[in-house]
Amino acid sequence: MRVTLVGAGPGDPGLLTLTGAARIQNADVVLYDRFVGEEILAMIPDRAEKIDVGKNTGSHPVPQDRINRLLLEKAQQGLEVVRLKGGDSFLFGRGGEELELLAENGIPFEVVPGVTSAIAGAAYAGIPVTHRDYASSLHIITGHAKNNERPRIDYEALVRLQGTLVFMMGVAAIGEICSGCMAAGLAADMPASLVENATTHAQRKFLGTVGTLSELARANAVASPALIIIGEVCRLSERYDWFGKKPLLGRQIIVAHAQPGASKLSERLKELGCQVLEPLSAKITPLTASDAPLEKALTRIADYAWLVFTSGVGVRVFFDYLHEAEFDLRMLHGLRIACVGVETEKEIKKRGIYADYRPAEYNGAALARGLTALVKGGERLLIARAQDAAEDLTRILANAGIAFDDVAIYEKSYGVEPISYSNVDFAAFTSASTVEAFMKAAPAGDFGNMKAVCIGEKTAAAARSHGMDVYVSAEATIEAMVQKIEELACSLHSADQG
Ligand code: SAH
Repeated sequence: MRVTLVGAGPGDPGLLTLTGAARIQNADVVLYDRFVGEEILAMIPDRAEKIDVGKNTGSHPVPQDRINRLLLEKAQQGLEVVRLKGGDSFLFGRGGEELELLAENGIPFEVVPGVTSAIAGAAYAGIPVTHRDYASSLHIITGHAKNNERPRIDYEALVRLQGTLVFMMGVAAIGEICSGCMAAGLAADMPASLVENATTHAQRKFLGTVGTLSELARANAVASPALIIIGEVCRLSERYDWFGKKPLLGRQIIVAHAQPGASKLSERLKELGCQVLEPLSAKITPLTASDAPLEKALTRIADYAWLVFTSGVGVRVFFDYLHEAEFDLRMLHGLRIACVGVETEKEIKKRGIYADYRPAEYNGAALARGLTALVKGGERLLIARAQDAAEDLTRILANAGIAFDDVAIYEKSYGVEPISYSNVDFAAFTSASTVEAFMKAAPAGDFGNMKAVCIGEKTAAAARSHGMDVYVSAEATIEAMVQKIEELACSLHSADQG
């Protein structure tokens, strides 16, 4: 039994603390509200109860005293309770109020500080909140008062301190805030900026002065959550802009995964500022029961001269099975090994084995043609791959009179989540089968302006057959795909400007 107040940070899931993440993963109940990023909510385990206290009936939040009581009741039931809030729980987060009832009732609690948007949002806008040449103090002020009264702010005191001013919850009162500062003597040309949805892929930043900021907010329809930052340090914003320069910031991309688990492609795209949507979840079912074709093939391993892999998953399933069924790795010693795809080859290398052959192109036909030239008369191939895999490989081998056993060692199926893709710029496909799985999820027909970036010709053909606007990466690697997406985003950007 314990309640932990966890600050979730300003939005970028990377800004959650290690302790915060551990508490979320251990929680029985999580109470959360607005401004907690989707990716952080996704870390809550399925078994935990999730209570959205940002919404009650309609769009009204659950009243504070009800939240306080919920925290108490859940803790009294002996549960591990996490109270998750945007930014830091104590900075305009009512964390102090929430601890009161717990303290009164002797409930153990802990507080995991969060990265506040007041500082992190400024940092993502290229603004150091203090700087020895410009400001030696930082003042964080709420632009919103209790019971919806006008905020009572002592502008004279703030202006006199000559530090950096950060107003939170201030969008609705921006006119009043700026004129209050000016009436207290702040020069109208004092640099100021607005940072909306800071640290997220939707971040927008506007630079102006105390005199122009209010009009800038109106003209650009700036909405909450946003920070109003006033002070000399805003001068550095353009020079120190690093986040706004990310080449894929503001872009949405669908990554249709071929493999379950963390994806290097998604990670790279996120690093470049892209919002990654992952509607597919691949499920791999090994077909390696005892008595399955793989076991039979392994007991006759001496019949084979070549072992052939066509995917990284296939390599993993194969070697995991050898290990689990206690087959000695040395049984493979006489075999030559062929594979297709750089990622497949890497998986093989991880087992300390260097493939004898991998075609330059990433497709089964290339593999088959290469093998046709390499396999000697009378040699037999063991092909260990997915059930219902593409037929090019086996058809070409059969036509060339090469003997083989095509052994299905795993089955791949897809779960799909419906997605809205009206704002999607790209979809990335790493296999024809993910194109097909994606098509099941997508509403038929209209792909808007979505560009399909494909890892190879075979994948591209599948995407074209569904009427997509198709681009193929220069090589069949994740890096080359990322590069292709960056190129396309760059040309989209010039089109937007032009
Ligand atoms: N405890 C939070 C602040 C809660 S008050 C923290 O430490 O960040 C809510 C206000 O925080 C919003 O009105 C806005 O001014 C600011 N805010 C929170 N998240 C933000 C974000 N991602 N970008 C800009 N401002 C944000």
